[in-house]
Amino acid sequence: MRLLLKVCAALALALPVVGIARSAPHAVAPADGGQRLILVTMDGTRWHDLFRGPDAALLADKRFTDPDMKDAVENAWATGPDHGAALMPFLHGTMAHRGVLYGNRDAGQCLQVANGMWFSYPGYNEILTGRADDAHITSNDKIYNPNVTFLEWLNRRPGFAGKVAAIGTWDVFPYIINDKRSGIAVNAAFGGRFPTDTLTMRAAFDTLRTVKPRVLYVGLGDTDELAHIGDYDQYLTAMNRDDDFIAELWRMAQADPAFRGRTTLIVTTDHGRGTAGGAAWTEHGSARSVEIDPAGFTIPDKAGFPGSEQIWLAALGPAVRAAQPVGSQCLHQNQIAASALVALGQDWRAFDAGAGAPLPFFAKDR
Ligand SMILES: [Zn+2]
Repeated sequence: MRLLLKVCAALALALPVVGIARSAPHAVAPADGGQRLILVTMDGTRWHDLFRGPDAALLADKRFTDPDMKDAVENAWATGPDHGAALMPFLHGTMAHRGVLYGNRDAGQCLQVANGMWFSYPGYNEILTGRADDAHITSNDKIYNPNVTFLEWLNRRPGFAGKVAAIGTWDVFPYIINDKRSGIAVNAAFGGRFPTDTLTMRAAFDTLRTVKPRVLYVGLGDTDELAHIGDYDQYLTAMNRDDDFIAELWRMAQADPAFRGRTTLIVTTDHGRGTAGGAAWTEHGSARSVEIDPAGFTIPDKAGFPGSEQIWLAALGPAVRAAQPVGSQCLHQNQIAASALVALGQDWRAFDAGAGAPLPFFAKDR
């Protein structure tokens, strides 16, 4: 909990989007093809729930599931042949069928963080910069990121300058994206009380509709908040709400000629959660992160919370190949930045030749 408040406290009122250059609604597509990107992260969301649906042991445990909610959760999301699809219908439907949904260990799919911390700032840094940085990113403190994100790099390029928008439910996002240096207006919600993703979602819809950014990053946070307080039924409800939000964002994009047919959607998470059973699912972090800040954990454990390095990813759009087996190879979070740049028709090596290579689901010849 204390970790939660420190780590993830992100509670709040959305601020109006400011300082983002507006592009004309029917602007001529830039010469690079005018590809666009929508990146959505769901903080600390487990692959277990995404692929298996509600966990029977956590539903039966009164510490984590309100007995009055148990039947409702089971009737809604633990029914039919595919419980994961019942809980997250858009990710398992449109995204999995026309794109890719990856990270199901039950099907032998491995995707994990490369950083050694297994909590939020290191995860978002890795997603957005294409590199783990265990030397500098060792806390969730509000420290301006010394590393350059692909958002910042794009915001300095012709065709993208002023057309990169970021909205998040966590007030550390302005530091991660380094709004001061990058010039990207980061609309981060803060203050107030959670759940607050509804405010972030509203701001995202407004931004898509009015600003029409070429790159829109939306960082959702309720899942992690609710998991930290051990509220499993509400954590599942937040997942389901996120799925609905992502579906609506995609529907809006496909209804807009500026976005239709040229937009790639990527959905992922910054870290997983402990898999040791009992209350371990409420926590996340490596042995090293527990060592750095033992007081930050409700259940301090020298071994950390194994399993919280495990993540997943969904992608959809013109640059995404149909899902295909990649063998037993383990993929990493540091490959997401290059994947995003490939989807935008950009040379990811010009951003950072040392970043993780694009994920195999993304066309390389763009
Ligand atoms: Zn957390």
